[in-house]
Amino acid sequence: MKYDVVIGLEIHAELSTQSKIFCECAQQFGGEPNTRCCPKCVALPGALPVLNQAAIKYAVIAGLCLNCHINEYSAFDRKNYFYPDLPKAYQISQFYFPICENGFVEINGKKIRINRIHLEEDAGKLIHDDIQGISLADYNRSSVPLIEIVTEPDITSGEEARAFTEEVVARLRYAGVCDAKMEEGSLRCDVNISLKPKGAKEFGTRAEIKNLNSFKSIVRAVDYEIKRQSDILDRGAKVKQETRRFNDSNGKTVSMRSKEEADDYRYFPDPDIPAVLIDKTKILEIKESIPAMPAERKKIYVEDYGIPEADADLILTQKEYSDFFNETAKYLDNYRGAASLFVVELFRIINDKGYEGEFKFSPEQFVKLVKMLDEDKITKAAQKKILWLMFDSGKDPEIIAKENNLLTVRDVEGVQEAVRAAIETNSKAVSQYREGVEKVFGFLMGQVMRQVGKSASPDLVREELLKALKG
Ligand SMILES: [Zn+2]
Repeated sequence: MKYDVVIGLEIHAELSTQSKIFCECAQQFGGEPNTRCCPKCVALPGALPVLNQAAIKYAVIAGLCLNCHINEYSAFDRKNYFYPDLPKAYQISQFYFPICENGFVEINGKKIRINRIHLEEDAGKLIHDDIQGISLADYNRSSVPLIEIVTEPDITSGEEARAFTEEVVARLRYAGVCDAKMEEGSLRCDVNISLKPKGAKEFGTRAEIKNLNSFKSIVRAVDYEIKRQSDILDRGAKVKQETRRFNDSNGKTVSMRSKEEADDYRYFPDPDIPAVLIDKTKILEIKESIPAMPAERKKIYVEDYGIPEADADLILTQKEYSDFFNETAKYLDNYRGAASLFVVELFRIINDKGYEGEFKFSPEQFVKLVKMLDEDKITKAAQKKILWLMFDSGKDPEIIAKENNLLTVRDVEGVQEAVRAAIETNSKAVSQYREGVEKVFGFLMGQVMRQVGKSASPDLVREELLKALKG
């Protein structure tokens, strides 16, 4: 392509505090319209905002997770505009003094810089009823705390935009400050995109695509815009600076309005809210309370525990899985075996039965199950079966094994007898093996296993069979 793609993102993430940012109303998704509102969040005359300290803490945590500098002084401003979902006719935001600045996230070894993270309130929601031709306003979302993460224009493709957003989502979730449910709108992404002739220094005119609510639509919207803008430039025409909406059903973006500049919003300091002061000690204290991020955990899994990277990635898909796995790691040294049981069998069960946020069995019980196979007390097939039963009942694996006759039998004489019988009845295979056709060993193993049953130790059978074939 003859153009360079320049992309910057603005990610809006709702903070999962108990209450809203300037009042005591519950911060929760959904609910009957206009039931989580008070005079403050619907801006009745005389109502004054009171800043929720938890929102400040959560914003600091988000900033630290994204390698930002935390400003010891930050303040709130009014962003003035009229829209029916905004009863105050201004949004309380941070324009002049944001809470976090100068962060970055590394994607495949490349640093994507974060210009700033500011704290603000969300607006309400309009519900358009096409049949009756009316629009209704729901203010439950008014004043829900939001952070806006603004990157530098360092991103050069839809895939990179997606990878960056995925990494931000993972970190916010691990830190416990945002549930990042894109389908519920608790994390939304605006994409600023422009093209410039390859190698040119000056940026082209950008379009902003608003409110993308899935990773897939980020990639699709970017791909569509690259094509649209390069067609315009190829014709020698100019791209308009505007705000566009992405239509998920046809994969196209359409113009919404010409893009506003900061001047249009007449920002000025909010006189109702005192400045926010956080000292270094407090920032350090918050920093120490943040759990390890996925990248840090992955390094330990792969480098220290020797777990395959793909397995590590799967365990890291949810913090609860990773926390559980970390607990098990305290009690065992066969990390690979535990990881394999986790991502193969446990994930199969989760796919089948669903996951409610915690397991009925404890990390110790899971470790016991891993060790039972390592110590040859059960077979691999029995291990799987026990895990299914543990998942439902939360019972101890040893008890389950006993109750279901799943403990491996080390009946040496019984195995020897079965080996003798198998050798006698399969003389052809035996002589083939002795002539060097090694693949018939599996067949002979199978013959013996059929005799002695599934609970017999395969190791013991192998050992005895090898012994007898040599003799
Ligand atoms: Zn309220």
